[in-house]
Amino acid sequence: MIAMALACRPKLVIADEPTTALDVTIQAQILDLLQDMKERFGMAVMLITHAMGVVAETAQRVVVMYAGKVVEEAPVDELFGNPRHPYTQGLIRSIPRIDLDAAHKTRLEAIGGSVPILINPPPGCRFAARCKYAMSICTEKEPRLREIAPGHRMACHLGDVS
Ligand code: SF4
Repeated sequence: MIAMALACRPKLVIADEPTTALDVTIQAQILDLLQDMKERFGMAVMLITHAMGVVAETAQRVVVMYAGKVVEEAPVDELFGNPRHPYTQGLIRSIPRIDLDAAHKTRLEAIGGSVPILINPPPGCRFAARCKYAMSICTEKEPRLREIAPGHRMACHLGDVS
């Protein structure tokens, strides 16, 4: 599949969950291959994945989506070092930390609830039913995507004074 995608020398490859169901060894080989092809052919790769570890390792810029909406966008180091949207924070807290010793390990966190039914999405913020910071405005008005730092954008009513 990757060979077929590269045969026409594309400027952009959209790789949708390219490592799903692969063991970690093959996953690493596929990611190395994509990186190599990217540099050799000067192409861009849009990686769509649920694996935050893969994102941290391969991406330069990250766009986090929830229920079909962009909720946060930032350079990879900024996103992992300073996640601002409650959904992004929950995703990052759910990554196993094998770098911590036993004395500093904590229980993995899960985001309670489930995604809304998108045939008839709820008004306001689509994450509101699962968000521990939800306020009344969150179920009334859709948060706009706004710049909160250079190159870092978020769609959340927290700290939005406009
Ligand atoms: S807009 Fe409200 S419900 Fe949505 S993520 Fe922000 S605080 Fe939570």
